[in-house]
Amino acid sequence: MIRINEHYLKLQASYLFSDIAKRVAAFQKAHPGKEVIKLGIGDVTRPLPPACIQAFHKAVDEMADGATFRGYGPEQGYDFLREKIAKEDFQARGADVADDEIFVSDGAKCDNGNVQEIFATDITVAIPDPTYPVYLDTNVMAGRTGAFSEGRYGNVVYLECTRATGFIPALPREKVDLIYLCFPNNPTGGTITKAQLKQWVDYARAQKAIILFDAAYETFIRDEALPHSIFEIEGAREVAIEFRSFSKQAGFTGTRCAYTVVPKACTAYTAAGEPRPVHALWLRRHTTKFNGVSYPVQRAAEAVYSPAGRVQCRELIDYYLRNAALIRDEMTALGYDCIGGDHSPYIWVNGKQDSWEFFDRLLEKANVVCTPGVGFGRCGAGYIRISAFNDYEKVQRAMERIRRTLK
Ligand code: PLP
Repeated sequence: MIRINEHYLKLQASYLFSDIAKRVAAFQKAHPGKEVIKLGIGDVTRPLPPACIQAFHKAVDEMADGATFRGYGPEQGYDFLREKIAKEDFQARGADVADDEIFVSDGAKCDNGNVQEIFATDITVAIPDPTYPVYLDTNVMAGRTGAFSEGRYGNVVYLECTRATGFIPALPREKVDLIYLCFPNNPTGGTITKAQLKQWVDYARAQKAIILFDAAYETFIRDEALPHSIFEIEGAREVAIEFRSFSKQAGFTGTRCAYTVVPKACTAYTAAGEPRPVHALWLRRHTTKFNGVSYPVQRAAEAVYSPAGRVQCRELIDYYLRNAALIRDEMTALGYDCIGGDHSPYIWVNGKQDSWEFFDRLLEKANVVCTPGVGFGRCGAGYIRISAFNDYEKVQRAMERIRRTLK
């Protein structure tokens, strides 16, 4: 008899964004004439930068010619892209990362979700609350957690991020083996300083733990004192893996290109306590289960590092940051306590009422979609996340309606 992986049954009935989509669809069906403005899911709205489009077209033309056609590429990504990434995103910032420590993939979501399979099932995992749901759900699927009760899974160390902690998790009191950190954070928009991140690196070194550092939003950082990469921190190479994505940096959510950095010094242990390089495990996993990102997409990603691409990507992020500033200023003026929005596309708003009630109020009265904070974890109760990914005119209109509703 074929049997299912029963850990899947522990997962909460539906994914947050499908719950939201259902409520929005029901509202639109009931009010077909109303324009609903979506500031919920973190998907980009602006087109790809022209430099990327040009490179994309050129690569497609190469695929049309027998002399330049390419079939399977290297699973880890083409050298032309890995070299640019290592040099421009890391070495230029003083972070010691080599080309062959970069693994190009089709998304930071899959990499974040897949990476846990190279670690033992009976380790202790520490996950922020609130969190990007992928970290938690993939550990549930793998069987590392207990059942769900009162908003939490058993056998998970929740790292609470609240106003009291400055929305940065405190070091856990118990011993943990695998730690998820995400900065600039989704959903809170919070950032971490180098000194704070160093405490985590020191903790991981002392505990022989590994930090999974999700830097999918690093390109939004506008304060050069803040770390873009965990590898700017001394000692991180032995204890950290970093996830990056072109999704937000260059509008690639529908084009798909990302990468994971696994330093050769990063170490995990056998049950007998023997050290093993994680790089070799991830290389094995990646080359066994993945067949590479398409050539034209990697050429388009490479164009992000060209002089024109750099300027265009900066303008793209500035556009969303302008939206974010407007949202944050308006919500603050209405008397709501907010964080995020300055180095992040997300504004985390203390709605001073139940998250889903606040969500419904904004949907029904202002016809604006946000994300209920409680969907990201128990510490998100009472909060909503507003996303700056939309056209400026729509954000202006949304904020006018929110102002009228909440005044
Ligand atoms: N990591 C975080 C924190 C995210 O918020 C997202 C997308 O919203 C991702 C990863 C997914 O990135 P990708 O589009 O590369 O899969």
